[in-house]
Amino acid sequence: MINSVPHLKQLLRQLQQVPYLASKNLYRVVDHLLGSDPRMVANLCDALTKARDQIIRCSDCFIWIERSKPCSFCTSSKRDQSVVCVVQSWQDALSIETSESYRGLYHVLCGLVSPLDGVGPQDLTVQHLVRRVEKGKIKEIILALNQTPEGEATSIYVVGQLKKSGVMVSALSRGVPAGGSIAFMDRLTIYQALSDRRSLSGNL
Ligand SMILES: [Zn+2]
Repeated sequence: MINSVPHLKQLLRQLQQVPYLASKNLYRVVDHLLGSDPRMVANLCDALTKARDQIIRCSDCFIWIERSKPCSFCTSSKRDQSVVCVVQSWQDALSIETSESYRGLYHVLCGLVSPLDGVGPQDLTVQHLVRRVEKGKIKEIILALNQTPEGEATSIYVVGQLKKSGVMVSALSRGVPAGGSIAFMDRLTIYQALSDRRSLSGNL
C-alpha cells in the first residue's frame, strides 16, 4: 500500500531514523502532518533547519545554547558557580530548573554508561567535568542521575574520576523512586531529593 505512494514512503523512511519517533506513534505524526495547513508544515521545517544550524551545546556544561550567545547558566552572576549538578540529559536539567529549587550550574553527561547499548564512559562528557573541577572554583558536585542500574554505574564511574580532585560529591536522596527518571519527577520530589541529598565523599 505504501509502495504506491512514493512520497509517503520517503517521508516515513526519514522519520524512522529518529529513534523516539520510530514507533506506532510515527503513523499518528505522519497523519497529523499530512492533514495540517501547508504553512504550518513549512514553518516547522524552517524552525527545525534554523535550530539545527543555530543551536549548539555549551562547551562547558553541554546544555543547548544559541550559537551567537554565551551560555545563560555558565555566565550568570546570579547562579552559584561553586555547585554543579550532573545530569544525564538536557531534559533532566530542564526538569530541575522547573522545580525552582536549584540555583547552581549544570553538567550534561549526554547519556549514561550502558554496556548493553554500547555506551561506555568514553562516550560521555565525564572528562570535561573533571577538567571543570580541576579549575578549582567548584566546591560541590551533585549527581542527579536516574536511579537505574545505568545511573548507578555512571555515578560510581564519575565518583572514581573525581577522586583525585577532593571535591565534595553528593547524590540525590534515596527519596527518588527506584527506576525513577528525573525528567518525569514532580517539582516537590525534585526539591526534596535535592534538599536531602546524601554525601558520597566518604566513598572517594
Ligand atoms: Zn554552559
